[in-house]
Amino acid sequence: MKSFRKEVSINVPTRTGFVNITPQVETAICESKISEGICLVNSLSVTASVFVNEDEIGLQKDFEVWLEKLAPQHPKENYQHHLKPNEDNGDAHLKRTIMGREVTCAITNGKLDFGTWEQIFYGEFDGMRNKKVLIKIIGE
Ligand code: ZN
Repeated sequence: MKSFRKEVSINVPTRTGFVNITPQVETAICESKISEGICLVNSLSVTASVFVNEDEIGLQKDFEVWLEKLAPQHPKENYQHHLKPNEDNGDAHLKRTIMGREVTCAITNGKLDFGTWEQIFYGEFDGMRNKKVLIKIIGE
């Protein structure tokens, strides 16, 4: 069995944002030379997510609005996390947990074995700084 590991840097210029990282994962699969296996993609930040959904107009804004209802950024006093000095991202930790840490995808014939509309997204909830995504691929 072969294994391949790669870190991809991401810097979202806004506090919240979504990036389709499917091309970066496809590049990693190519570099791995693994044609049958499993690909794990996870955020190395506790305030960012990796998830699978469709790259469709309006959907990213809908996720943003929905997450803001579930874990509003304000008022800051709502978060016990902010009792710790210099912390103001309690909502971002919750949003990350809602959207998930990682995805695991099948690789068949050297490609992501995806449904028609499936794409891999990076979800940022406390951006404007460098973050990392880990891609780990195992197989033959
Ligand atoms: Zn925090």
